Amino acid sequence: MSIVVMKFGGSSVADADKIRACSARAIEARKAGHKVVMVVSAMGDTTDDLVALAKQITSTPSKREYDQLLATGEQVTISLVAMAMEAMGQPAISFTAGQIGMVTDDKHTKARIKRIDVQKVLRELKSGKIVIVAGFQGVTEDGAVTTLGRGGSNVTLVAIAAALKADMCENYTDVDGIFTADPRLVPNARKIDQVSYDEMLELASLGANVLHNRAVEFAKKYNVPIHVRSSLNHSKGTMIVAESEEMERIVVSGAALKKQLARVSLRNVPDRPGMAARIFHTIGAADIVVDDIIQTETTNKLAAVSFTVDMGDITDVKAVCEKLCSQHAGMTVEFKTDLAKVSVVGVGMRVHTGVAQRMFAALAGAGINIHNITTSEIKISCIIDQVQGPIALRLIHDAFDLGKTPGKAKAKKGRK
Ligand code: ASP
Ligand code: MG
Repeated sequence: MSIVVMKFGGSSVADADKIRACSARAIEARKAGHKVVMVVSAMGDTTDDLVALAKQITSTPSKREYDQLLATGEQVTISLVAMAMEAMGQPAISFTAGQIGMVTDDKHTKARIKRIDVQKVLRELKSGKIVIVAGFQGVTEDGAVTTLGRGGSNVTLVAIAAALKADMCENYTDVDGIFTADPRLVPNARKIDQVSYDEMLELASLGANVLHNRAVEFAKKYNVPIHVRSSLNHSKGTMIVAESEEMERIVVSGAALKKQLARVSLRNVPDRPGMAARIFHTIGAADIVVDDIIQTETTNKLAAVSFTVDMGDITDVKAVCEKLCSQHAGMTVEFKTDLAKVSVVGVGMRVHTGVAQRMFAALAGAGINIHNITTSEIKISCIIDQVQGPIALRLIHDAFDLGKTPGKAKAKKGRK
């Protein structure tokens, strides 16, 4: 009998009716002859509400107590789901992470799973029950409750699927799958049938907020294919799988837009070993997450270093950079706000050429100025003015015919 692990996120279990609907969905899989494990998130905005509640008490809660609080959201859902199933005549049992020995390290609020004792789960499955597991949480060797980071129920899903060597790992959401671009911005965006782990990682970090990156990394490491699909219908969603040669025939798989960015440009940076390390150590120590970094050599042993950050971090980044400038004679800093990043992603870029040119031409054709360009092996990103973000996204989506069912790539072989 095959094992299916199905995960339902917060919006899919937001109220009693939705909990009943998800439970019915799991029962359907059980009746079809599968052994079913269900991973659930906290109902609706519960986790956000708990965060807000903690803030009302103190702005500096200890991480241990913060996790203790946040993990309660999922505990509510698992018991309600089990009750819903029992009410429908389906034997079921719910478990917290601690009850199935889901041991993590002690890095509260972003703990990593070390092991899962699956014997208990297997025993219950064997007896015919549906097993419901609380997502997002873990437990340290000492028994303290941990959480895996926001959106971490997906990590639970993949970890359980890997530990059980499940035949299917399904992520149920309120969308039909992963799209070639955000359908709210690009009306002709199309559902992608399959996407590689690496493409998914790039798309997620580019603002296509579908799956927690740690979940995808975990899935890649243990080679667990994830099926992202809708809980509202039965159509096939998107498979996130290991890269195949066939995927390389498609030059670009998706396009994404990340808004609310600011660019920081440090000029007259002494061009000597250790400077970049010093700058980014100082910025990292202030808990500022840095996006693309560009360093160019100018003249007289001086360099220019620029990088992008979230607009929300601009006050902090200003303080840090101004301090750095005060410590190095001649060094200056400039900020440019209200920027966005449009990107195209595709493993096909490894073998096809002309991708960058096609993207730049699409933007140029509409008079959109590119402030910065960065690339990785499977991604090209352009920093542009934020107001032009949505139109730029539509333009590049069209430039690569992403709205059409993919055929064979016409581009020449080579790089970018
Ligand atoms: N409930 C947690 C959150 O909202 C975990 C999750 O939903 O995956 O971040
Ligand atoms: Mg949630």
